[in-house]
Amino acid sequence: MRRPLVAGNWKMYGTCASIKQLLNELTEQDLPDDVDMAVFPGLIYLQAVDALLAGSGIALGAQDCAVQLEEGAMTGETSALQLKDIGCSAVLVGHSERRQLQDETDGVICRKFIAAQAAGLTPILCVGESLAERQAGQAVAKVQQQIDAVLLELGVDVFNNAVIAYEPIWAIGSGLTATPEQAQEIHAQIRAHVAKYSATVAQGLRILYGGSVKAANAAELFAQVDIDGGLVGGASLNAKEFSAICRAAGN
Ligand code: PEP
Repeated sequence: MRRPLVAGNWKMYGTCASIKQLLNELTEQDLPDDVDMAVFPGLIYLQAVDALLAGSGIALGAQDCAVQLEEGAMTGETSALQLKDIGCSAVLVGHSERRQLQDETDGVICRKFIAAQAAGLTPILCVGESLAERQAGQAVAKVQQQIDAVLLELGVDVFNNAVIAYEPIWAIGSGLTATPEQAQEIHAQIRAHVAKYSATVAQGLRILYGGSVKAANAAELFAQVDIDGGLVGGASLNAKEFSAICRAAGN
């Protein structure tokens, strides 16, 4: 039985004041105890958020890490070890906005995945197809290619301590959500693909859905057998919405 995970990606949103208010409101909500919850604030707010989360049971994650594990001359970068040092337990790798805006390649993402695990962080590997790829019938192939960039390089066992987030690019921040059936189809294909290498790893692997998840559609999505929670962008900036999504992931 996989324990659900709901992760809130705050992207480049927030101020000291708004983040404090959001967390105050969030910790006052009815939060489920059978769901893992995590928030991923912008880098400069990580330490403040870590302090505000104390005792809440909500984990802290970062939105990115450097390819290099050890400290060094890499202006503007933050290493996975530094993220671990300030209290993070997870990191997003390969979010589509970074793939698109920062030209992150599968090779770079694999190196970040390695760095994250070496530092003791859980990488959340984000994969997903564009609208053109979906319309061309290439969604499954695209997602498999992004997973294979890690799986074939590092071996299937690395997914014992990792999470995959399926995020169709056309559904991110667009208000367009994949239907539960569309999402389940890709999640099942991802699990079947990993199972070709290890049925045990595939069975234990948490696969999150991301793309305009909100309180109104979360329960239907999370009811699908291969959807183990969500990676939530916009709706994670609203305490009531986010807590309702977390509750929808529980029993
Ligand atoms: C995301 O940023 O990972 C995401 C899924 O965003 P949204 O929920 O706003 O579509």
